[in-house]
Amino acid sequence: MWLFGIFLLCGVSAMPNRYRDDSIFNVTKLQLDRSALREEEIKRANLQEYFELFDEPEPLDFHETNPVLTPYGRLEEGDLLRSAEEDRKGVTSGELWTDRRYNYEITNDASRAAIEAGIKFWRDHSCVQFQEVSSGSSEPRVLFVAESGCWSMLGCTAKHASSRTQKLSLGSGCTGFGTVTHEIGHSLGFYHEQSRSDRDEHVTIMWDNVKEAYKHNFKKVDTTQNHGVPYDLGSVMHYGSTYFSSNGGPTILTRNPTLQGLIGQRNKPSFRDVALMNRLYRCEELCSSPPPYYPAPSCGGEISSEGTVSSPGWPALYPTGADCSWWVRPPTGRRARVTFTTFSIMQQVNGSCKYEYLSVRLGGVLDGGEMYCSKQLTGKQLTSTSPDGDLVLRFKSYKKYFMGSGFVATVQFV
Ligand SMILES: [Zn+2]
Repeated sequence: MWLFGIFLLCGVSAMPNRYRDDSIFNVTKLQLDRSALREEEIKRANLQEYFELFDEPEPLDFHETNPVLTPYGRLEEGDLLRSAEEDRKGVTSGELWTDRRYNYEITNDASRAAIEAGIKFWRDHSCVQFQEVSSGSSEPRVLFVAESGCWSMLGCTAKHASSRTQKLSLGSGCTGFGTVTHEIGHSLGFYHEQSRSDRDEHVTIMWDNVKEAYKHNFKKVDTTQNHGVPYDLGSVMHYGSTYFSSNGGPTILTRNPTLQGLIGQRNKPSFRDVALMNRLYRCEELCSSPPPYYPAPSCGGEISSEGTVSSPGWPALYPTGADCSWWVRPPTGRRARVTFTTFSIMQQVNGSCKYEYLSVRLGGVLDGGEMYCSKQLTGKQLTSTSPDGDLVLRFKSYKKYFMGSGFVATVQFV
C-alpha cells in the first residue's frame, strides 16, 4: 500500500493538468479499499482512460526513429548496418566473437550507464566475457556511439575492419534497456526473430501493409542457426505489430491471435533469447555442472488429482505481479476439465486482456491458448482437447494494481 501511494503521487504529479480531476482519485480510493473492491469491483467507464494514463508510455522503437541511411551505409531490417567488408566477403550470418571475448569502447557522447546495464545483462546471462578497452587498443571491438538512430552491425565484423572497430549507435531515444540489449544482441550475432527460417509457422507478414521501400526488412534468412531454441514471439529481437506500416495497419500478425500482444516487447531479453545466446557461444561446454536456468516457481505446478485450483492467496486477493502456471494432467485415457465457480480479474483494456488474464491452453503444452479476464469464465466449463487429455492454465496479475478478487475452479478428470 505504501509503495502504491508513492507511485500514485509520482504518477499524478507527472500528469497533464487536464487529467487532474477527482474521478481518477475516486477509482484510486476504491482500489485502496480492498473490502470495497471485493464487493463492488471496478465498474467505472473511465477505467480504460485511467490505465492509459498510468501505464508507462511505450518508448519509440528503432523503426520510428532510425534513418534509412547512415554515413556508413544503408540500414538493413531497420537497424542492421552492413559493412563494405561484409558485402565483399558475402557474409550471410552473424560471425561470433573469437574466444567468447567481446571488447568494447564507449565514446564520450554515448550513454555509459545504459550501455553498462545492457552489458551487465548479457554478462550475467551468458559466458561471453565483456571487456572495455582503450581507444588505442588493437583488439577488435565495438565502438558505442550516439549517432542518429539505434543500430548495430550483425555479429563481429570488427576483426575484418582496418579500424578494428565496428560502431553500435544508441542515439536519442535508444537508451531503454530493451533497446540496448537488442542492439548488443545484434552485435553478438542475433538476427531479428521474425527473420528466422521457421517464422511462417508462427507469424504472417501482411505485405500489403508494408511500406514499399521497406519490404526487404521482412525477408526471411534461411541460414539462421536456431540451435533447437523454439521460435519466440516474446523475444526482445522480434519486430512489433506495426513496424514499417504504410497505413497504420498491422504488418505482422501472430498465427495465434491471442498472442498478438507478445511481439515487439522491449523490456528485456526473454528466456529463449538467453537460451539462444548460451547455445550460440556454447556456454554449456564451460560448465562441469550446469546451473539450473531458473528457480522453482513460487506458485502453480502440476495437478494430477481432482480437486480445486485457485488464484494465489485465495480467498485473499491475489498479489500484484503474480505469474503462475498449472499443468493439469489426468491419468491415461481421461480428459482434464475445469469448471470456474468464481472468476473475477481485471476487465479488458482496449479490447484485450492486456494487464491481467488467465490463459487456458486446452490443446495442451503446444497450444498457444486463449486469454480470459473480467468475468468471462464465471460458471464456464472447459475440457481439454489435447491428445493427452491435459490442459495448461496460466494466471498473470498486473505489476502495479490488483483489480479483481481472483478465481476458483474445480478440476475433474472425465
Ligand atoms: Zn534490430
